[in-house]
Amino acid sequence: MSQQQHKFDLIIVGGGLAGASLALALAGSKFSVAMLEAVAPQASDQPSYDDRTLALAWTSCRIMQGLGIWDDLQASATAIEEIYVSELGKPAQVQLAAADLGFENFGAVIEARAIGNSLLKRLQAVDNVIRFCPAKLTAIKPDKDQVVIQCETETGNLELSASLVVAADGARSSVREMLSIPTRIYDYQQTAVIANVSPEKDHQQRAFEQFTATGPLAILPHVGGRCGMVWTVPKGEESALLELPDQQLLDLLNQRVGHKTRELLGRFSKVGRRTAYPLYLVQPQSNISQRVVLIGNAAHAIHPNSAQGFNLALRDAVALAEVLVEAETADIGSAGLLQAFDQWRKPDQQQTISYSDGLARLFANPGWLAGLLCSGGMALHQLFPPLKRRLALSAMGFRGRLPKLARGQKLSIGKPK
Ligand SMILES: Cc1cc2nc3c(=O)[nH]c(=O)nc-3n(C[C@H](O)[C@H](O)[C@H](O)COP(=O)(O)OP(=O)(O)OC[C@H]3O[C@@H](n4cnc5c(N)ncnc54)[C@H](O)[C@@H]3O)c2cc1C
Repeated sequence: MSQQQHKFDLIIVGGGLAGASLALALAGSKFSVAMLEAVAPQASDQPSYDDRTLALAWTSCRIMQGLGIWDDLQASATAIEEIYVSELGKPAQVQLAAADLGFENFGAVIEARAIGNSLLKRLQAVDNVIRFCPAKLTAIKPDKDQVVIQCETETGNLELSASLVVAADGARSSVREMLSIPTRIYDYQQTAVIANVSPEKDHQQRAFEQFTATGPLAILPHVGGRCGMVWTVPKGEESALLELPDQQLLDLLNQRVGHKTRELLGRFSKVGRRTAYPLYLVQPQSNISQRVVLIGNAAHAIHPNSAQGFNLALRDAVALAEVLVEAETADIGSAGLLQAFDQWRKPDQQQTISYSDGLARLFANPGWLAGLLCSGGMALHQLFPPLKRRLALSAMGFRGRLPKLARGQKLSIGKPK
């Protein structure tokens, strides 16, 4: 196919969870939007819409309502009403109940694939967003007035241009690499193995997280009475968990879970397909560059110990949509606008990154001081309700100035062109 040319207001590179959420937040706005996604949604190697059971914070569920997909998602969602946090072999634990805070739940657990399906279904009916898929970004050239990108599609190469490019292309962002944005990558030397497991007793909307020196083990309530398991092990040990016969894996899991999980859920008797995810902290020096902004994992890939990666990405996506639709300038790629977005989002991003990174390093540290901080911290949180409340509200996504959609308000979408 010969080179085609297309001009847009905005191009989103990466149509995964973060990119598609941004595209949907811009639905009906005056902007013409192109969204490029390298891997088809049904493909077995689609990296965003996979089997992971994601814990969505309360504010994220409200954003999903604002995006108009909550009704569709509800059949796949399981509310989290109680959370139990403990440390392997230690008596201290933190028990959080949403009802104690005056909420029905802390949020909900939904499979990443179900969120992806709902986002894409809704996007099909949106006129101002054109989806290119499969389409892989191969080059990007920002200049004073616009950004020109090249991409490969099944039918040939495309050249597109826009006032602004949003990189939502994941932890290994090609936009970030092509623009040589310096990025700190820290290898946690841990791998998360995920699978669905079936407990003996009803999970009653309870989530469990047990910290160990080799990484956390989370058990999340899921649909059909199942639970989502996220088991973090030292790098290299994941192949044992992936390859063990089902019954042996279940025996190991039954030994490993904390006493509260055992008491409330009984024994696990069935395990589904297992997948492994190596864990890194990815932190670019800057999330903005000339006419380019990074969001989602491209801007910050974090340890899943606090289940905040997508929640943070979603707040970024809808905050960016808010800044763009409410901009007083006609140039949505202007440095001033991108700086305003960056300054707004930085405190939430830094706080979320520091929290999950701090947890990962503290529990991995074998020293007595770290041990004291872990057990002491947990006991303190359990004993002092204000601390517990702060912890819970933060996990629910109440961090700094919230985007309008997270506050249950609508964006002031301008008239389409
Ligand atoms: C084990 C595990 C458990 C987790 N649990 C939770 C949880 O409970 N709660 C939570 O909030 N978060 C959780 N997360 C984090 C969450 O999965 C991520 O934050 C989220 O997937 C980030 O979405 P994204 O769209 O930014 O990136 P990605 O999901 O990586 O999507 C990027 C997209 O860009 C596309 N792409 C890449 N390069 C190109 C290119 N050159 N051209 C075009 N397209 C391209 C890719 O195909 C992909 O679809 C977890 C993560 C892991 C690993």
